[in-house]
Amino acid sequence: MNRIRLYRSEAIVLRRHEVGEADRILTLYTPDRGKLAAIAKGVRRISSRKSGHVELFTHVAVLLAAGRNLDVLTQAETIEPFRGIRDDLIRTTYAYHVAELTDRLTVDASPLPAAFWLLRDTLAALSTADDPSLAARYFEVRLLGLLGFRPQLFTCVACGKTVDPDGNAFSPDLGGVVCPACAPGHREAVPLGERAFRVLRFLQTREWAMVQRVALEPATRGALERLMQAYVRHILERDLHSVSFLRGLRRVGGTFETPSSVRVGGSAD
Ligand SMILES: [Zn+2]
Repeated sequence: MNRIRLYRSEAIVLRRHEVGEADRILTLYTPDRGKLAAIAKGVRRISSRKSGHVELFTHVAVLLAAGRNLDVLTQAETIEPFRGIRDDLIRTTYAYHVAELTDRLTVDASPLPAAFWLLRDTLAALSTADDPSLAARYFEVRLLGLLGFRPQLFTCVACGKTVDPDGNAFSPDLGGVVCPACAPGHREAVPLGERAFRVLRFLQTREWAMVQRVALEPATRGALERLMQAYVRHILERDLHSVSFLRGLRRVGGTFETPSSVRVGGSAD
Protein backbone atom coordinates (compact mmCIF):
# COMPACT_ATOMS: atom_id res chain seq x y z
CA MET A 1 0.00 0.00 0.00
CA ASN A 2 1.24 3.48 -0.83
CA ARG A 3 1.77 5.84 2.03
CA ILE A 4 0.46 9.34 1.48
CA ARG A 5 3.29 11.83 1.40
CA LEU A 6 2.32 15.17 2.94
CA TYR A 7 4.27 18.38 2.70
CA ARG A 8 3.85 21.97 3.86
CA SER A 9 4.52 25.05 1.82
CA GLU A 10 3.84 28.70 1.58
CA ALA A 11 2.17 29.69 -1.67
CA ILE A 12 0.60 32.48 -3.69
CA VAL A 13 -2.59 31.53 -5.52
CA LEU A 14 -2.02 32.46 -9.18
CA ARG A 15 -5.07 30.95 -10.77
CA ARG A 16 -8.11 28.83 -10.01
CA HIS A 17 -10.47 26.91 -12.17
CA GLU A 18 -13.56 24.92 -11.46
CA VAL A 19 -13.77 21.19 -12.04
CA GLY A 20 -16.73 18.92 -11.48
CA GLU A 21 -19.45 19.84 -9.00
CA ALA A 22 -17.45 21.24 -6.15
CA ASP A 23 -13.73 20.99 -6.84
CA ARG A 24 -11.22 23.54 -7.89
CA ILE A 25 -7.77 23.28 -9.41
CA LEU A 26 -5.36 25.86 -8.05
CA THR A 27 -2.17 27.02 -9.66
CA LEU A 28 0.18 27.85 -6.80
CA TYR A 29 3.54 29.54 -6.82
CA THR A 30 5.76 28.34 -3.98
CA PRO A 31 9.27 29.26 -2.78
CA ASP A 32 10.81 25.78 -2.85
CA ARG A 33 8.88 23.98 -5.58
CA GLY A 34 8.14 26.79 -7.99
CA LYS A 35 4.81 26.54 -9.74
CA LEU A 36 2.52 23.62 -9.09
CA ALA A 37 -1.10 22.61 -9.59
CA ALA A 38 -3.18 21.24 -6.73
CA ILE A 39 -6.76 20.11 -6.50
CA ALA A 40 -8.95 21.45 -3.70
CA LYS A 41 -11.82 19.05 -3.23
CA GLY A 42 -15.21 20.23 -2.11
CA VAL A 43 -14.12 23.85 -1.68
CA ARG A 44 -17.13 25.20 -3.55
CA ARG A 45 -19.62 23.68 -1.14
CA ILE A 46 -21.05 26.37 1.12
CA SER A 47 -20.26 24.36 4.21
CA SER A 48 -16.60 23.92 3.26
CA ARG A 49 -14.26 25.38 5.81
CA LYS A 50 -11.50 25.58 3.24
CA SER A 51 -13.33 27.85 0.82
CA GLY A 52 -12.30 31.14 2.38
CA HIS A 53 -8.65 30.25 2.43
CA VAL A 54 -7.87 29.81 -1.23
CA GLU A 55 -8.71 33.21 -2.67
CA LEU A 56 -6.78 34.42 -5.69
CA PHE A 57 -3.60 36.42 -5.04
CA THR A 58 -3.47 35.56 -1.34
CA HIS A 59 -0.38 34.39 0.50
CA VAL A 60 -1.30 31.08 2.10
CA ALA A 61 0.26 28.28 4.11
CA VAL A 62 -0.84 24.96 2.67
CA LEU A 63 -0.57 21.28 3.52
CA LEU A 64 -0.51 19.17 0.38
CA ALA A 65 -0.68 15.45 -0.27
CA ALA A 66 1.57 14.46 -3.13
CA GLY A 67 -0.45 12.82 -5.89
CA ARG A 68 0.53 10.98 -9.04
CA ASN A 69 -0.77 13.76 -11.28
CA LEU A 70 -2.08 16.53 -9.08
CA ASP A 71 -1.24 17.21 -5.49
CA VAL A 72 -4.24 17.46 -3.19
CA LEU A 73 -4.84 20.45 -0.94
CA THR A 74 -5.64 19.17 2.53
CA GLN A 75 -5.32 22.35 4.61
CA ALA A 76 -4.94 26.04 3.85
CA GLU A 77 -4.49 29.02 6.08
CA THR A 78 -4.23 32.63 5.01
CA ILE A 79 -0.99 34.37 5.92
CA GLU A 80 -1.76 37.62 4.12
CA PRO A 81 -5.02 38.34 2.26
CA PHE A 82 -3.83 41.59 0.59
CA ARG A 83 -7.24 43.14 1.15
CA GLY A 84 -6.25 46.37 -0.58
CA ILE A 85 -6.14 44.43 -3.86
CA ARG A 86 -9.61 42.96 -3.45
CA ASP A 87 -11.19 46.30 -2.55
CA ASP A 88 -10.07 48.10 -5.70
CA LEU A 89 -10.72 47.09 -9.30
CA ILE A 90 -7.57 48.74 -10.68
CA ARG A 91 -5.38 46.99 -8.12
CA THR A 92 -7.17 43.71 -8.85
CA THR A 93 -6.40 44.10 -12.56
CA TYR A 94 -2.72 44.64 -11.81
CA ALA A 95 -2.72 41.60 -9.54
CA TYR A 96 -4.18 39.51 -12.39
CA HIS A 97 -1.42 40.84 -14.58
CA VAL A 98 1.48 39.93 -12.27
CA ALA A 99 -0.06 36.52 -11.48
CA GLU A 100 -0.56 35.76 -15.16
CA LEU A 101 2.99 36.85 -15.99
CA THR A 102 4.34 34.55 -13.29
CA ASP A 103 2.20 31.73 -14.60
CA ARG A 104 3.14 32.21 -18.25
CA LEU A 105 6.84 32.87 -17.77
CA THR A 106 7.55 29.99 -15.42
CA VAL A 107 7.25 26.23 -15.80
CA ASP A 108 6.11 23.67 -13.25
CA ALA A 109 8.53 22.35 -10.66
CA SER A 110 11.29 24.83 -11.40
CA PRO A 111 11.92 26.52 -8.04
CA LEU A 112 13.11 30.10 -7.89
CA PRO A 113 12.63 31.36 -4.32
CA ALA A 114 13.56 34.95 -5.26
CA ALA A 115 10.66 35.01 -7.72
CA PHE A 116 8.27 33.92 -4.97
CA TRP A 117 9.38 36.71 -2.66
CA LEU A 118 9.29 39.22 -5.49
CA LEU A 119 5.72 38.17 -6.26
CA ARG A 120 4.75 38.33 -2.63
CA ASP A 121 6.29 41.78 -2.14
CA THR A 122 4.69 43.02 -5.35
CA LEU A 123 1.22 41.93 -4.19
CA ALA A 124 1.88 43.76 -0.92
CA ALA A 125 2.93 46.84 -2.90
CA LEU A 126 -0.08 46.56 -5.21
CA SER A 127 -2.43 46.56 -2.25
CA THR A 128 -1.11 49.85 -0.87
CA ALA A 129 1.03 51.75 -3.40
CA ASP A 130 -0.03 55.21 -4.53
CA ASP A 131 0.80 54.18 -8.09
CA PRO A 132 0.21 50.45 -8.64
CA SER A 133 1.53 50.72 -12.21
CA LEU A 134 4.98 51.38 -10.75
CA ALA A 135 4.77 48.16 -8.74
CA ALA A 136 3.75 46.24 -11.87
CA ARG A 137 6.66 47.65 -13.91
CA TYR A 138 9.08 46.96 -11.04
CA PHE A 139 7.81 43.38 -10.95
CA GLU A 140 8.24 42.91 -14.70
CA VAL A 141 11.78 44.28 -14.81
CA ARG A 142 12.84 42.22 -11.78
CA LEU A 143 11.09 38.98 -12.75
CA LEU A 144 12.55 39.09 -16.25
CA GLY A 145 15.96 39.64 -14.68
CA LEU A 146 15.54 36.58 -12.44
CA LEU A 147 14.47 34.48 -15.42
CA GLY A 148 17.48 35.43 -17.53
CA PHE A 149 15.85 38.20 -19.58
CA ARG A 150 17.34 41.17 -17.73
CA PRO A 151 16.85 44.20 -19.98
CA GLN A 152 20.26 45.59 -20.96
CA LEU A 153 20.13 49.28 -20.07
CA PHE A 154 23.73 50.37 -19.69
CA THR A 155 25.38 49.52 -23.00
CA CYS A 156 23.96 49.45 -26.51
CA VAL A 157 22.78 45.94 -27.43
CA ALA A 158 23.98 46.48 -31.01
CA CYS A 159 27.44 48.10 -30.69
CA GLY A 160 28.27 47.61 -27.00
CA LYS A 161 29.05 51.26 -26.26
CA THR A 162 27.97 52.81 -22.98
CA VAL A 163 24.76 54.73 -23.62
CA ASP A 164 23.80 58.28 -22.65
CA PRO A 165 20.30 58.70 -21.23
CA ASP A 166 18.95 60.58 -24.21
CA GLY A 167 17.93 59.59 -27.74
CA ASN A 168 17.91 55.81 -27.32
CA ALA A 169 15.43 53.19 -28.40
CA PHE A 170 14.53 49.84 -26.85
CA SER A 171 14.71 46.68 -28.92
CA PRO A 172 12.40 43.90 -27.66
CA ASP A 173 14.17 41.47 -30.02
CA LEU A 174 17.61 42.17 -28.58
CA GLY A 175 16.39 42.80 -25.03
CA GLY A 176 17.89 46.20 -24.37
CA VAL A 177 18.70 49.74 -25.41
CA VAL A 178 19.95 50.67 -28.85
CA CYS A 179 22.03 53.86 -29.03
CA PRO A 180 21.13 56.76 -31.39
CA ALA A 181 23.87 55.70 -33.84
CA CYS A 182 22.55 52.13 -34.12
CA ALA A 183 18.82 52.95 -33.94
CA PRO A 184 18.32 53.49 -37.71
CA GLY A 185 19.37 49.87 -38.29
CA HIS A 186 16.83 48.58 -35.75
CA ARG A 187 13.41 49.64 -36.92
CA GLU A 188 11.69 47.25 -34.49
CA ALA A 189 13.10 49.27 -31.58
CA VAL A 190 10.68 51.49 -29.65
CA PRO A 191 11.84 55.09 -29.03
CA LEU A 192 12.86 55.49 -25.39
CA GLY A 193 12.67 59.01 -23.97
CA GLU A 194 15.18 60.17 -21.38
CA ARG A 195 12.71 60.13 -18.50
CA ALA A 196 11.43 56.60 -19.26
CA PHE A 197 15.04 55.41 -19.68
CA ARG A 198 16.02 56.81 -16.28
CA VAL A 199 12.98 55.31 -14.56
CA LEU A 200 13.67 51.93 -16.15
CA ARG A 201 17.25 51.93 -14.86
CA PHE A 202 15.97 53.01 -11.45
CA LEU A 203 13.50 50.07 -11.42
CA GLN A 204 16.30 47.70 -12.28
CA THR A 205 18.84 48.90 -9.73
CA ARG A 206 16.93 50.21 -6.70
CA GLU A 207 14.83 48.51 -4.10
CA TRP A 208 11.08 49.01 -3.96
CA ALA A 209 11.38 51.25 -0.87
CA MET A 210 13.14 53.77 -3.14
CA VAL A 211 11.18 53.04 -6.30
CA GLN A 212 7.80 53.66 -4.69
CA ARG A 213 8.71 57.34 -4.21
CA VAL A 214 8.97 57.94 -7.96
CA ALA A 215 6.14 60.11 -9.26
CA LEU A 216 5.41 59.03 -12.83
CA GLU A 217 3.97 61.46 -15.34
CA PRO A 218 1.11 59.91 -17.38
CA ALA A 219 3.19 59.99 -20.59
CA THR A 220 6.09 58.12 -18.96
CA ARG A 221 3.69 55.66 -17.34
CA GLY A 222 2.19 54.89 -20.74
CA ALA A 223 5.60 54.64 -22.45
CA LEU A 224 6.93 52.20 -19.84
CA GLU A 225 3.82 50.07 -20.04
CA ARG A 226 4.01 49.81 -23.85
CA LEU A 227 7.72 49.07 -23.75
CA MET A 228 7.44 46.28 -21.19
CA GLN A 229 4.39 44.89 -22.96
CA ALA A 230 6.37 44.67 -26.22
CA TYR A 231 9.32 43.02 -24.49
CA VAL A 232 7.20 40.46 -22.62
CA ARG A 233 5.22 39.67 -25.78
CA HIS A 234 8.45 39.08 -27.67
CA ILE A 235 9.73 36.68 -25.00
CA LEU A 236 6.44 34.78 -24.87
CA GLU A 237 6.13 34.52 -28.64
CA ARG A 238 9.64 33.20 -28.96
CA ASP A 239 8.70 30.51 -26.46
CA LEU A 240 5.25 30.13 -27.95
CA HIS A 241 5.44 26.44 -28.64
CA SER A 242 6.42 25.41 -25.16
CA VAL A 243 4.05 27.93 -23.58
CA SER A 244 1.02 26.91 -25.65
CA PHE A 245 1.83 23.28 -25.02
CA LEU A 246 1.84 23.82 -21.26
CA ARG A 247 -1.31 25.90 -21.38
CA GLY A 248 -3.02 23.23 -23.46
CA LEU A 249 -2.20 20.63 -20.84
CA ARG A 250 -3.62 22.73 -18.06
CA ARG A 251 -6.77 23.56 -19.98
CA VAL A 252 -7.90 19.95 -19.91
CA GLY A 253 -10.86 19.60 -17.60
CA GLY A 254 -12.26 23.09 -17.28
CA THR A 255 -12.20 26.72 -18.20
CA PHE A 256 -10.08 29.39 -16.63
CA GLU A 257 -11.42 31.97 -14.28
CA THR A 258 -9.10 34.69 -15.56
CA PRO A 259 -11.22 37.19 -17.50
CA SER A 260 -10.35 37.29 -21.17
CA SER A 261 -10.02 41.07 -20.97
CA VAL A 262 -6.91 40.74 -18.84
CA ARG A 263 -3.94 39.98 -20.99
CA VAL A 264 -0.23 40.02 -20.48
CA GLY A 265 0.85 43.63 -20.40
CA GLY A 266 -2.78 44.74 -20.28
CA SER A 267 -3.42 48.18 -18.97
CA ALA A 268 -5.64 48.84 -16.04
CA ASP A 269 -7.30 51.91 -17.41
ZN1 LIG B 1 25.00 51.31 -30.62
